[in-house]
Amino acid sequence: MKAMVLNKITSLDENKKPLEMVNLPDPLPKDNEVLVKVSACGVCHTELDEIEGRIPPPRFPVVLGHEIVGRVEETGSNANKFKIGDRVGIGWIYSACGECKFCLSSNENLCENFRATGRDANGGYAEYVVVLEDFACKIPEVFSDCEAAPLLCAGAIGYRSLRLTNIKDGQNLGLTGFGASAHLVLKMARHKYPNAKVFVFARSEKERDFARELGAVWAGDTEEESPEKLHCVIDTTPAWKPIVEALKNLECGGRLVINAIRKESVDKEYLLKLDYPSHLWLEKEIKSVANVARRDISEFLDLAAQIPIKPEFQEYKLEEANKALVELKERKIRGAKVLRMDI
Ligand SMILES: [Zn+2]
Ligand SMILES: [Zn+2]
Repeated sequence: MKAMVLNKITSLDENKKPLEMVNLPDPLPKDNEVLVKVSACGVCHTELDEIEGRIPPPRFPVVLGHEIVGRVEETGSNANKFKIGDRVGIGWIYSACGECKFCLSSNENLCENFRATGRDANGGYAEYVVVLEDFACKIPEVFSDCEAAPLLCAGAIGYRSLRLTNIKDGQNLGLTGFGASAHLVLKMARHKYPNAKVFVFARSEKERDFARELGAVWAGDTEEESPEKLHCVIDTTPAWKPIVEALKNLECGGRLVINAIRKESVDKEYLLKLDYPSHLWLEKEIKSVANVARRDISEFLDLAAQIPIKPEFQEYKLEEANKALVELKERKIRGAKVLRMDI
């Protein structure tokens, strides 16, 4: 099969072609695995982190890609969840042990043996991928392959972060940072909790206008005080300032959920402004979101189908993966980037 592989950690600023097109033997599904013929695979910021070594794969070469949509081509001898031809999706979670307390409580994203698609196992920048049948999910019919692919990552993690806020209808939700994942959370929150008010903190006026357009009752700059106290805030930024500033807007017992796979150290000193009485006292909580569990992916897809949420996207051929990655890094074009295997 054709695959775009990463052979080593490299800098995208110096090397615009980090992935190499190679021919690999077609993978074979064993036991309860399925072989999936990939039709679309979204291109994610996490791939930039893998290539540049911030979230390094444990071995090389590796096929990246964890927003995979395709059809079951072959089933292993003990696989019976899907039929040949069924359309399935595969997200960041590739596998977990299935036996630990986290796996048994549907929090397999916290499993010690959590393995990530396109990092710890070969992913979707290829014609085929093999996955355990229990880690593939059904895709609602309303989505095309290319529409569904980008939803498998930012949307599902956004859904988990919204879930972890414990928000109830009628409460106030804050969003600090207003990129792709926060747009999705705003849409989900408006649908799932129609009486909740959403407050958005973003640096650019354009983002704040967009937030109001999507239904935020208020939008202000990162350090502004919200006009009402917030039951919960979701942070989707790579920085520390938004965290400190968001804490002051939380009400007693409120919760800040940090939806970021890593934080940069550029403004780490801002943490020294943390003021215990105004930022943390009165039982305020801080919680991070790590990876996704399977239920986040499938519940989010069902919710996205109801709303509906359909991402804007731009298509690239498999061999254009390097171009898609460079454009993602340079933020040239808005909207998701999707590799389509049949063009
Ligand atoms: Zn991703
Ligand atoms: Zn486990």
